[in-house]
Amino acid sequence: MKRQEIKEILKSDAFGSTIKVSGWVRTKRESKNVNFINLNDGTVLSNLQVVADVEAFGSELLKKINTGAAITVVGELVESGGQQAVELIAKQIEVVGEADPDKYPLQPKRHSLEFLREIAHLRFRTNTFSAIARVRHSMIFAVHKFFTEKGFFNIHTPIITSSDAEGAGEMFQVTTLDMANPPLNEEGNIDYSKDFFGKKTNLTVSGQLEGELAALALSKIYTFGPTFRAENSNTSRHLAEFWMIEPEMAFYDLNDNMDLAEEFLKYLIQYALDNCIEDLKFLSDRQQQEEKNKPQDQRSMELIEKLKFVAENDFVRLTYTEAIDILQNSKPAKKGQFQYEVKGFGTDLQSEHERYLVEKHFKKPVILIDYPANIKAFYMKVNPDGKTVAAMDVLFPQIGEIIGGSQREERYDVLVEKMKKMDIPLEEMDWYLDTRRYGSVPHSGFGLGFERLITFVTGMGNIRDVIPFARTPQNCEF
Ligand code: ATP
Ligand code: MN
Repeated sequence: MKRQEIKEILKSDAFGSTIKVSGWVRTKRESKNVNFINLNDGTVLSNLQVVADVEAFGSELLKKINTGAAITVVGELVESGGQQAVELIAKQIEVVGEADPDKYPLQPKRHSLEFLREIAHLRFRTNTFSAIARVRHSMIFAVHKFFTEKGFFNIHTPIITSSDAEGAGEMFQVTTLDMANPPLNEEGNIDYSKDFFGKKTNLTVSGQLEGELAALALSKIYTFGPTFRAENSNTSRHLAEFWMIEPEMAFYDLNDNMDLAEEFLKYLIQYALDNCIEDLKFLSDRQQQEEKNKPQDQRSMELIEKLKFVAENDFVRLTYTEAIDILQNSKPAKKGQFQYEVKGFGTDLQSEHERYLVEKHFKKPVILIDYPANIKAFYMKVNPDGKTVAAMDVLFPQIGEIIGGSQREERYDVLVEKMKKMDIPLEEMDWYLDTRRYGSVPHSGFGLGFERLITFVTGMGNIRDVIPFARTPQNCEF
């Protein structure tokens, strides 16, 4: 008999039919004549209740059916008055894999998220982490669906790179040299010509520069790949290894870029609402439980309400300079409540400033544009004022920056001058400059941090909980 998945079984009304199901035991409740087994196979949040007659199966078998054990059951599907519309009356039970109840770390009780991070190899078996995994999958699919429907092409950009010009953060070096005894050159420095690639290489911090090359031929492309940053920032928003989506579009200016970013985020959030509502309801309840102890004014909006709010409202768009003005005149600035002072034009905004704008001032997602040139990357287009660049950051509640992007500098001379000023080695970037030498066009793009999106959509408080196996400073388990 073919195994059926619980997601389908729970929707079935084939009462009286005999079916086969397999999964992991979540809980078992014993009464005098029967045992109630809650079975989950990960295909859906809900469990299937299996009813096992004590006399028919005997205590020898039933005592092996503990939380964490894997079983296969053949039984009769019947209508149920319980939580679900159906349940299964067991006729045969096979214990596929036992789980010693004295040792299994995931007992059926509330565990802290910190504890679950330590047993990340088992946390998929909790409601919370299986829900996150399913939502994450749906969002991956929605990303590809959105861009495919819009005629974008997915490009795989390299993970190992020899350019460190992007300047998006500290990089992880990739080498096969013997660390204890590296080859040295005449000056006594490490001789990278002896390294695997004949030069110094790193893990990529962004696929953008290569993405631009493709966009200037294919018109609209996107990358969706792993990115690595060796920043020692132990925050709830930073990972050392994360996934980034980077669309790049020829003939798009900054306004087109903002329109696309806003449409994209709304599409993804609406997709989650349309396709993941059971998991989102569960995650919403979880969040509200967690926030019970917080004072009223620090609690966040109910998850589904919050997602609808973002999907249905226009984002606010303003310049960096306007934002600085708002921040300098804000209550927390006047009362000295910001940890980092807003000193005026040139201040790099911190997450607390971004969140103030979004959560307190506008109460909506915000797109900030036209940042000071010297706090942004070399490739951003210089505005007519000469001191700002056509950058855009999309700021979200709880998250702060979720997207960073810009219109790119397409003018060869302006770009070269800027690169010299910012100490970007021109020889190494010659391939990039070729796009500005031959058939250069205005173009734009942005980067969405996938885990920041998932943090927002799931309402989780820490980015380490929305990627299966987080990589952060001093932490690379599993
Ligand atoms: P932040 O200022 O928040 O550290 P950033 O400005 O360094 O971010 P960008 O280089 O603009 O980040 O990267 C584009 C996007 O990638 C960001 O908007 C964010 O969503 C995501 N991102 C950046 N760094 C990380 C990280 N360490 N972990 C997870 N996501 C990240
Ligand atoms: Mn950024």
